[in-house]
Amino acid sequence: MITETESKLFVGGRWVAPHSERRAEIRNPATAEVLGVIPLGDAGDVAAAVAAAAAAYPDWRRTPPGDRVQFLFRFKELLERHFEELAALITREHGKILAESRGELRRGIENVETACGIPALMQGYNLEDVARGIDETMIRQPLGVVAAITPFNFPAMIPLWFLPYAIACGNTMVLKPSEKTPLTVLRLAQLLEETGLPPGVLNVVTGAREAADALLVHPQVRAISFVGSTPVARHVYATASAHGKRVQCQGGAKNYVVVMPDADLEMSSKIIGESAFGCSGQRCLAVSVAVAVGAAREAFRERMVELARSLRVGDGLDESVQMGPVISHESKSRIEALIGKGEAAGGRVLVDGRGTIEGFERGSFVKPTVIEDVPPASGLQEVEIFGPVLTLERAASLEEAIAMLAASAYGNAASIFTTSGAAARKFRYETPAGNIGVNIGVPAPMASFPFSGWKDSFLGVLHGQGRDAVQFYTEQKVVIERWPAEWSRRF
Ligand code: NAD
Repeated sequence: MITETESKLFVGGRWVAPHSERRAEIRNPATAEVLGVIPLGDAGDVAAAVAAAAAAYPDWRRTPPGDRVQFLFRFKELLERHFEELAALITREHGKILAESRGELRRGIENVETACGIPALMQGYNLEDVARGIDETMIRQPLGVVAAITPFNFPAMIPLWFLPYAIACGNTMVLKPSEKTPLTVLRLAQLLEETGLPPGVLNVVTGAREAADALLVHPQVRAISFVGSTPVARHVYATASAHGKRVQCQGGAKNYVVVMPDADLEMSSKIIGESAFGCSGQRCLAVSVAVAVGAAREAFRERMVELARSLRVGDGLDESVQMGPVISHESKSRIEALIGKGEAAGGRVLVDGRGTIEGFERGSFVKPTVIEDVPPASGLQEVEIFGPVLTLERAASLEEAIAMLAASAYGNAASIFTTSGAAARKFRYETPAGNIGVNIGVPAPMASFPFSGWKDSFLGVLHGQGRDAVQFYTEQKVVIERWPAEWSRRF
């Protein structure tokens, strides 16, 4: 188990000492307890990992897909066997409550399961007689060495959006987890090692910007999968594209929900509260702004205020706790400053989560916060807060509500709460976002569907998960064959 001590890098099937001399402490955000020390890998570490991945590629690529997925079947078994241990590790390094850690791990495992279908998913197609006596076939082949750079907020699930598909398709991989929550990925690598996965098929370099940048420019890395904030997504997209790589970048978000007057308010407010405050608002699908249409406003506001006040905040390892800390003191300060900005601009803070919580003075906690009627001039509507802060807005009609959310630069997710099929259809049809919920608070696509952010929430063409992942991690090769019939008469 990698905790307490300094961890190593996983390169070429071995746990190796880093080339870099830089280190970072990993702390439990609820208690500030030091959980471990990780190397902050540099270009030398990345070069070693890419070399190991490149060396493993020719054999791995020739391993039949049906044999490749056997390692994933074993991995799935190990993930199930170590489920509770992994969930606790996620909670310790990230802070989210155990139920949320279990939830993200389950979503991650679903991607392993989906990737086990590669022998079917990776098939190409063909057509006889595209011209007289000529046949055409499309074959999918792996790219070679691919890399993923992942964020802090889903230490297991987001790496598992990429890893299983990449290796099942026959690629070898270098994974760079977030420097804030890397311990889960190191443990996942240990479990994959236990499956007997050939050395070099997966390599893990912990680190921050330096390691990420080295991957973006390395000539042997064919593709980059990135998830993180939009400014970094832009840098990753521009740099990796300029270096000739295939790139998919999932960026930040500012998600709206629309609450119609005919919504089931009791159910809706519970679901919206879980979306806004779950994982302390540190989900890219978390609701940030709730727009109540017409008469929904008063009753909805009352319920959200009551719910925000009632949540029990504390250490996520305590099963009775309903919300954990945010990731760091820096993050807490940033979120509290944004609440202050909204208030200074004239927003009414109905529930104020700023301050400390008793017994956890060293933790980085922000309690659930509800702000109403923040004036557009404050600029808060444009900012991804990424904390447990829900802004309440109002609209006179569904058209007006859709216009409000359409004005956002982001397009990750949007949901409507209604009992009207017509309102739901209009919302689904017109809303410019990639993941749409109808009476759903966190519209997270299942593993066999693409995670479809739009606008500033996504740069690229092919998304993570499912068929998009298979397409992203493979080249298409088209073979056109002429076999004149008279040649067969020679025998
Ligand atoms: P981040 O952008 O700070 O970091 C993401 C990754 O990029 C990390 O591995 C980090 O080490 C690396 N990185 C950071 N700065 C870099 C730089 N200048 N150059 C190269 N690499 C760099 O994001 P975070 O704070 O870890 O995660 C939160 C963000 O991720 C939020 O904006 C959230 O919305 C977003 N997110 C999006 C999705 C999605 O599916 N769209 C999912 C989860 C999280």
